[in-house]
Amino acid sequence: MIEQAKQLLKRIYGYDTFRKGQEDIISSIVGGRDTLAILPTGGGKSVCYQIPAMLLPGTTLVISPLISLMKDQVDSLQRLGVSAAFLNSSLGAQEYRDVLRNAMRGEYKLLYVAPERLDAPMFQSLSEQLHIPLIAIDEAHCVSQWGHDFRPSYRQLAGHLSRMPNRPIVAAFTATATTEVADDIVEMLRLREPSRYVTGFARPNLSLSVVTGVQKKSFLKQFVSERKEQSGIIYTATRKEAEEVCSLLQQGGVEAGKYHGGLTDTERADTQEKFRFDHIRVMVATNAFGMGIDKPNVRYVLHWQMPGDLESYYQEAGRAGRDGEESDCILLFEPADMQVQRFLIEQGTGDLDRKSVQMSKLNLMMNYSRTQRCLQQFIVDYFGESNVPTCGKCSSCLDKSEPVNRTEDAKMALSCVGRMKGRFGVMMAAKVLKGSRDKRLLEFGLDRLSTYGLMRHLPEKEVADWLYWLVAEGYMRLSEGQYPMVSLTANALPVLEGREAITQRVRASVKQATTSDDFTASPLFDALKQWRREAAALEGVPPFMVFFDATLRDIANARPSSINELLNIKGIGTAKADKYGEDLISVVISQGGGSETTGNRTDSIRPRKTPVAYRAGDERPSHMLSFELFMEGKSTKDIAKERGFSQVTVEGHIIRCTDEGHEVDWERIIPPDQEEVILSAIEKVGIEKLKPIKDELPSEVTYFAIHGVISKYKMNGS
Ligand code: ADP
Repeated sequence: MIEQAKQLLKRIYGYDTFRKGQEDIISSIVGGRDTLAILPTGGGKSVCYQIPAMLLPGTTLVISPLISLMKDQVDSLQRLGVSAAFLNSSLGAQEYRDVLRNAMRGEYKLLYVAPERLDAPMFQSLSEQLHIPLIAIDEAHCVSQWGHDFRPSYRQLAGHLSRMPNRPIVAAFTATATTEVADDIVEMLRLREPSRYVTGFARPNLSLSVVTGVQKKSFLKQFVSERKEQSGIIYTATRKEAEEVCSLLQQGGVEAGKYHGGLTDTERADTQEKFRFDHIRVMVATNAFGMGIDKPNVRYVLHWQMPGDLESYYQEAGRAGRDGEESDCILLFEPADMQVQRFLIEQGTGDLDRKSVQMSKLNLMMNYSRTQRCLQQFIVDYFGESNVPTCGKCSSCLDKSEPVNRTEDAKMALSCVGRMKGRFGVMMAAKVLKGSRDKRLLEFGLDRLSTYGLMRHLPEKEVADWLYWLVAEGYMRLSEGQYPMVSLTANALPVLEGREAITQRVRASVKQATTSDDFTASPLFDALKQWRREAAALEGVPPFMVFFDATLRDIANARPSSINELLNIKGIGTAKADKYGEDLISVVISQGGGSETTGNRTDSIRPRKTPVAYRAGDERPSHMLSFELFMEGKSTKDIAKERGFSQVTVEGHIIRCTDEGHEVDWERIIPPDQEEVILSAIEKVGIEKLKPIKDELPSEVTYFAIHGVISKYKMNGS
């Protein structure tokens, strides 16, 4: 079975190997076992149930809480040539009935259903009339009250499941990893002796960084300006910050949008759509921009502030690089952020127990922000996966900074706080050390402390950060409550007595990002992206749905010149090769075929207006249709116009037919006076690459003619 699964992975999705965990999960499901799979965001869950759905007879039900995701998944599956549909409230009455009727006839391999749609009668009629081998439950943590997205409809679902006469295999998927949630899922959904997989939490294509001690605004400007071509998300802790950061970027000419709870539904939907379609590049958002974002080409996620816990952090950061391309996750960290989060927890609605859980999660997040361990390892450890090697690319792994001895600074700060007797907050202590003339400070007579002004050489904010750092390191503590007071802990004593030295590593800047534009640019890649933009616009889908960046880059590197070569590229299965193959090859050829190029002829490549897959009535291959028109005496230019293709595409069609052995009047392809010169150019430079041949020849000789000669003399062995 797993061999077949591998074949499907290649044929349908165009991927050569399974990611960590996928193979085991698929084996477990097709082996008939209930399965609980915990994979991180972007880890590749969909494949884990889609492939079993294709392997098992009947229709797999996929329960998903997110309408927009369902549509995307179904669109993607249809593009891959897999029959799928969804039932949710976005369908009109007639559409709904149509889908249901087709579903009952067993026309779909996968049927996505919103949990609210699955009331008892619906469940019963589906299970009576359909053969359902598998029910896949996406975002399964919604069944758990411990999870952050509890949905009552998921609870009801569990009841329906257990009453099914021939209960199918149930596979539950989530990215939320705490054991309470996992246990809850198993119990609530009554999974039967499920195999459990917690896997793939390491995301090798993500470079994690914690950046401290920078001026955030200029850091951000610089960061974004190095990535003019890239999509990114910036998470802020509050709506106000989202507004501010968004304006900051817009003022700098960046196409940025914002997303937070204070906007209307329409505004939010509109911005999200623009982001998906790459019309805006940067999304500045609060955590309201959450589940349901599956845009694969997000190249970076930057946290303007530390979030309240590591799960939220990794889930948000994990929205980068779902397409597997190198991506950056950056956390801008100031020790004072701890205060903001504490405040949010204290103001929150939870009871005391919950608040104390949140506080300990916050402490862990703080530890992440300051750890000198590999950041990837730190996270993966937390999620319960062991034996994962260091990543070698996070800010800790790359940190070459020497620890700085700050014992004297620590002594000053600690003795100052000690003298303030736990009656003031961090900000006031910072003011005293700074020697501020603050009114309240003077009223309290704090200017008479011997530590007043000891750190006046530093900016006040830096002094405050230093104090927070000492809190985080456990030398001082903050009291509970809305206005926390700072006081010393027992750990402070050895430092004050000179028995313990304090060192701090100062990481001032983020490493040179792996993903800056320079890294990715190439004329052919640009041309392919331009083609993709137009193809996507014609079909009304976001560009990533046509191809991922990674696929386009692989094409740009490999420069395939045939459909077979194209099928070797990761991310191209047979359906997409049929649909777009010729266009892609044409773009490659227009950019100088199998060689480096200087010219840019993308303008002439337009995506076909009627994609082959949707052409009604005529079942002949597209290239044959062009060829017939050519044989009727029409020029490639006219055929292009008539069929809504670029001329280069049509020329590609003609050559493909001659390669396949169709008779043609060669003089219409190769001007008689050019054949000789082309042949001698080929003799000189070989046929490995077209560009050098073209360069050997006068400029009026076209690629079409060169291809013609190669085809006529069967030089490429076909
Ligand atoms: P999530 O776990 O967040 O639902 P998805 O199922 O959307 O993740 O997968 C994330 C991305 O990884 C998708 O673009 C998917 O096509 C890709 N992917 C999944 N499996 C593989 C694989 N074996 N090789 C390469 N890419 C894969």
